[in-house]
Amino acid sequence: MTGSEPARQLPQLAVACPTCHAATGDLCTSHGGTRPRRNDTHQTRTAAWREADLAQRDETHPTPGRYQVTYERVGRRRDIPPLIVEAAGADHLAKLVHTDARRYLGSRDVEVRVDLEEMRGSILCGMRSGGQFTVERLDGGR
Ligand SMILES: [Zn+2]
Repeated sequence: MTGSEPARQLPQLAVACPTCHAATGDLCTSHGGTRPRRNDTHQTRTAAWREADLAQRDETHPTPGRYQVTYERVGRRRDIPPLIVEAAGADHLAKLVHTDARRYLGSRDVEVRVDLEEMRGSILCGMRSGGQFTVERLDGGR
């Protein structure tokens, strides 16, 4: 199911789309919202994400690098494969985890927190815990 929607992996899903008004984490839609765009998003969304991402990088004193996220649990599942990503910092990593983990959760109200001091993070579904993960730095940076 998820394999047929490569757009789910796109980082710009972390922002809402200015063109079709797809919500954060949702696929863009074409034809008045009747058809999800499974392979790409509107270009305006990519641009909006870049802007938001750059703004965030300035704010958070990022530590860019390559990270492995190992899930202890997502929702009720404990068999989620690890996520290996390039991230610009804690907030960026949280966005990428959000995009990845959200696929395994029924809730639309998902929030991800990453603590790069503790090298771990948590997933929240509304008021409930949606899971936990540990973070490992792969490129030896500091
Ligand atoms: Zn769109």
